[in-house]
Amino acid sequence: GQTDYKADQKFAEHMKGTGEAASDFARRKTIQEQRQFLPVFAVREELLRIIRENSVVVVVGETGSGKTTQLTQYLHEDGYSSRGVIGCTQPRRVAAMSVAKRVSDEMRTHLGDEVGYAIRFEDCTNEQTVIKYMTDGILLRESLRESDLDHYSAIIMDEAHERSLSTDVLFGLLREVVARRTDLRLIVTSATMDAHKFSAFFGEVPVFNIPGRTFPVETFFSRHVVEDYVEAAVKQSLQIHLQHEEGDVLVFMPGQEDIEVTCELLVEKLAEIDNAPQLAICRPKIFQRAPDGLRKCVVATNIAETSLTVDGIKYVVDSGYCKLKVFNPRVGMDGLQVYPVSQANANQRKGRAGRTGPGMCYRLYTERQYKDELLECTVPEIQRTNLANVVLLLKSLGVEDLLKFHFMDPPPQDNLLNSQYQLWTLGALDNTGLLTQLGRAMVEFPLDPALSKMLLAGVDMGCSEEILTIVSMLSVPALFYRPKGREEEADAMREKFQVPESDHLTFLNIYRQWRLQQYSSGWCTKHFLHFKALKKVREVRQQLHDIMDQQRLSMTSCGTDEDLVRKCVCAAYFHQACRLKGIGEYVNLRTGTPCHLHPTSALFGMGYTPDYIVYHELVMTSKEYMQCVTAVEGNWLAEVGDKFYSVNEGGASRMEKRRQALAHKAAMEAEMDRAQDTLKARAEE
Ligand code: ADP
Ligand code: MG
Repeated sequence: GQTDYKADQKFAEHMKGTGEAASDFARRKTIQEQRQFLPVFAVREELLRIIRENSVVVVVGETGSGKTTQLTQYLHEDGYSSRGVIGCTQPRRVAAMSVAKRVSDEMRTHLGDEVGYAIRFEDCTNEQTVIKYMTDGILLRESLRESDLDHYSAIIMDEAHERSLSTDVLFGLLREVVARRTDLRLIVTSATMDAHKFSAFFGEVPVFNIPGRTFPVETFFSRHVVEDYVEAAVKQSLQIHLQHEEGDVLVFMPGQEDIEVTCELLVEKLAEIDNAPQLAICRPKIFQRAPDGLRKCVVATNIAETSLTVDGIKYVVDSGYCKLKVFNPRVGMDGLQVYPVSQANANQRKGRAGRTGPGMCYRLYTERQYKDELLECTVPEIQRTNLANVVLLLKSLGVEDLLKFHFMDPPPQDNLLNSQYQLWTLGALDNTGLLTQLGRAMVEFPLDPALSKMLLAGVDMGCSEEILTIVSMLSVPALFYRPKGREEEADAMREKFQVPESDHLTFLNIYRQWRLQQYSSGWCTKHFLHFKALKKVREVRQQLHDIMDQQRLSMTSCGTDEDLVRKCVCAAYFHQACRLKGIGEYVNLRTGTPCHLHPTSALFGMGYTPDYIVYHELVMTSKEYMQCVTAVEGNWLAEVGDKFYSVNEGGASRMEKRRQALAHKAAMEAEMDRAQDTLKARAEE
């Protein structure tokens, strides 16, 4: 049966009567004293005992109780590190990095020695590392190399309630691993809601509650439906600031752009108020401390729901929105979009106000909206995104029948089939749904399947040197900046780099010029390029280069034959091709939807209008904009995308093409079904 371990209330007793604000406390106490003051410390022995006695334990505790920073250290102190590394996964990179930094400080070591972290394209660990924070994606990839994760003695899957795609896949895999390795300890931490579901999934394992101290939070709903949540949030925050004596404010916004606008607007509006007291407006990127006596207003995304602790919050302002990655069937790929939060998110947000004393939560939506329109829980990522990468990974782990993989919440069958179809068109799966040699090679790269394919096509066609640069440039966001008031200047600089037939070649051009300038930072600034981003590109490039070396893939340059480069881009993105329809107007070759060149594209407004183009991604604003575009030849499409297009297809109607595509897809699915039946029959024999 299932046991709920309730530890004693020692800690709660201890806390009574200490009305001191947490920030003052942090300032006065040493780091060691702070550690002993965390709720989890009061139950340390009991927790360690339960972990010793059970191979899987679910740990539940309020945000700030010490799960993320303390559990790893307790296991280390209890001797686990003598048997292997103690790993702790995070759904977010920022969290993995900042928490590793904090723990290395607590242990008085250098970040990257005993305590380190690993995120995609950045490994900050060494042979001494015994506590390793990482994204869940990293651990998932590690399981490719070492399916039993032998070099770990314990794994903490932190923030499991976030239900990221990688977490969900890891759940299925780790369930098997703990069955095989009785020495491994798995700890799943979660905010309150999902604990029992997790426990059931791993076979009714114990749930351990860290007794917390929470204070009541008064909730205020908006009386009317809010039109503009940024404006409403600014108004609400200022009202709090002017009406209430003290206490910091935490504002939840869906994304980075909204955060920027909110902060700007806050500054602006505050300046309009006569004799307004000062307010420290900050983003929780780094743990900033407001100057003494100043009220802090932190504007954050849902990262502040549970991942990052912001101490001393008394007021929460909740926009009611968050950004989610969702597969968009119309454009055939995932996109980040703003959605209403779930009730679970909303309550987590509210809880942030009751950590150090009674608090207040202002919801910028009506009570009716909360009850009728918000989902109880967020739909897990695995049920709403493209699964091509996961399929590739699981196939290479030998999971042949994905429909039988033990998912906690299985993805819709259509999603799985679509992802398999995508991999099949790329040539990563054969007609029977098994991994091809190309597919096997693609798995080695921590990239989206199309990008891995592009790299490998580069090797085949003799331009891997160039393609490697392009892929690295595509893996780093925001290379350009357009400072306010200098937009035209910045655009003019960007245009200087442009290669008329390709944004991909433009990227190559930028990187080459930067290399000629000995990777100078001054040169970046002068050309409105983010130096940090380009530096990252260089690191990414080096890491992909290392993988290519390990895989004995050759590095060759095509010199000035840039058509070859365009052909490689075509080989990876032929499924995202468009044909010229009118002046500056394109239609998607497969779906017939109109697509537009993004104004930042090198092909935009140049008077050069190629008949065929492929694009890297589609951004949806008022229209569908293609971002990062390259001109290609019609016959290339027929050659590399033979599953979609044929040479004499020019005359075929759109209907006809769609029919063909659907027929192809149906044939593939039937083949796969047959293959799976054969496998099944063989297994039963
Ligand atoms: P949980 O994972 O249970 O939410 P954490 O272990 O993240 O709790 O945090 C415990 C305490 O450690 C927090 O209350 C906070 O004061 C402190 N803390 C965590 N991360 C940092 C950091 N990067 N800088 C300063 N203090 C931190
Ligand atoms: Mg945590």
